[in-house]
Amino acid sequence: MTNLVTEYPLGSEKRPLRVAVVGAGPSGFYAVDALLRRKDVLIEVDTFDRLPVPYGLVRFGVAPDHQNIKAIIKGYEKIATNPRFRFFGNVQFGRDINLEDLQAHYDQIIYAVGAETDRKLNVPGEMLSGSYTATEFVAWYNGHPDYVDAQFDLSHERALVVGMGNVAMDVTRMLAKSPDELAGTDIADYALESLRASKIREIVILGRRGAAQAAFTPKEIKEIGALEGVDIVVDPADVVLDEESKKSLETDKQARANVQYLTEKSQEGSGASTKKVHLRLLRSPVKIVGENGHVVGATIERNVLVKSESGEMRPRGSGEFETIPCGAIFRSVGYHGIPLQGVPFDRDAGVIPNERGRVVNPDSGKVVRGQYVVGWIKRGPTGLLGTNKGDSGETVDAMLEDIQGETAPMHEEQEPEAIESFLKSKEASYLTFSDWKELDFLEVEKGAELGKIRQKFVHLSDMLEALNKESG
Ligand code: NAP
Repeated sequence: MTNLVTEYPLGSEKRPLRVAVVGAGPSGFYAVDALLRRKDVLIEVDTFDRLPVPYGLVRFGVAPDHQNIKAIIKGYEKIATNPRFRFFGNVQFGRDINLEDLQAHYDQIIYAVGAETDRKLNVPGEMLSGSYTATEFVAWYNGHPDYVDAQFDLSHERALVVGMGNVAMDVTRMLAKSPDELAGTDIADYALESLRASKIREIVILGRRGAAQAAFTPKEIKEIGALEGVDIVVDPADVVLDEESKKSLETDKQARANVQYLTEKSQEGSGASTKKVHLRLLRSPVKIVGENGHVVGATIERNVLVKSESGEMRPRGSGEFETIPCGAIFRSVGYHGIPLQGVPFDRDAGVIPNERGRVVNPDSGKVVRGQYVVGWIKRGPTGLLGTNKGDSGETVDAMLEDIQGETAPMHEEQEPEAIESFLKSKEASYLTFSDWKELDFLEVEKGAELGKIRQKFVHLSDMLEALNKESG
């Protein structure tokens, strides 16, 4: 019997490879870039984001006073000018579109959804009012539509920040920096207002390990030390290194720079500034203390470092406790991925199991055809924005290896208009990249009126109204 359906090589003029990217943050954009740069295959890419606007953590994670980092967006904008790229904002996987819908319209799917929630501390009192996650605080001051109504009690003099990664540095800096210095950025108005009213004068950062194991980069801790009217205070006893930590400095440039800086700070004493950032090393919270449901302090334990089987220095409680009174606690101990409906997920690691970006079914150990992963949901919440470039490139290489010699027919669903009709049939109010460019223009224009870099839209309804669109 003759096969009446004509098949064409996948990635040819007659049958472009059609890829859906779920998530329009940095890893998603680097994947789009790697796909569209290929000269040997014709690829069309549609990117979906549950948020109405693109850029994920660059817009909603990078701190407002780090505009130099946000400048990376210029590169993403250039990628977006490719006619083979489209953006569909306000389209949520599992709500507006599901796995089967994407499989009907695309040959390959990339999950680039990042790590949307936070790691737990797992100590009593973690859920008391006044105990916040860094993820919610960061999203709030960045005008993330889901966090606009969040409330943070900044009415006490002392706040605790748990963890010493770069997110903890962002949180600390935003709490310590003069609001006047933030006023010209793209910080959300309501956040600036709250920070202006903040009574916080002392921020205690708790690092569970020592100076040689700090996760922050030297640039970020030095930026706090350089803040106007702020002193970093470190106890000299906390920067005394054990032999193993000392040895690690020989090969770890970042640790060497951090230790040198913190040692210098420990010798400077407490300083004359009115705001203090106390860095307490080798300290873990063991209990968050509350009164009438609100945080009033934290019990912390001093740790000693013990070499693990893998050779890493791990913290172990020494049995020496103290309680630090405070009115707010920001838990900044890392992000954690959340599962997508119908997609394999490793709950402990918070990632989609994969081999070089190919999604793997953990039960069978087999690769799941046509599904791929990039960024934090692939490798866990580590690395700087640029780390995603190589990571996404690896996945795209695997994707293109997988279509070698493949042919496919051209169905109606593979016509570029089909997905638009589908979304309209679901009454999804999606935003396109040109909608975003219009909002971008309005944000910058409004910002200029107010003496800010941009005034962000923070409500979906306002964005739709500005675009004369109806909500779905
Ligand atoms: P991170 O770098 O992994 O730091 C997490 C911190 O939390 C570490 O100090 C970790 O200590 C600590 N921690 C984890 N579990 C803990 C527990 N149970 N108790 C006490 N402390 C605990 O994560 P992140 O700060 O969320 O940053 C994520 C990524 O984004 C990083 O790669 C970061 O560099 C990047 N980033 C960069 C910038 C920038 O360039 N300006 C800004 C923000 C974020 P241990 O080391 O002991 O595990």
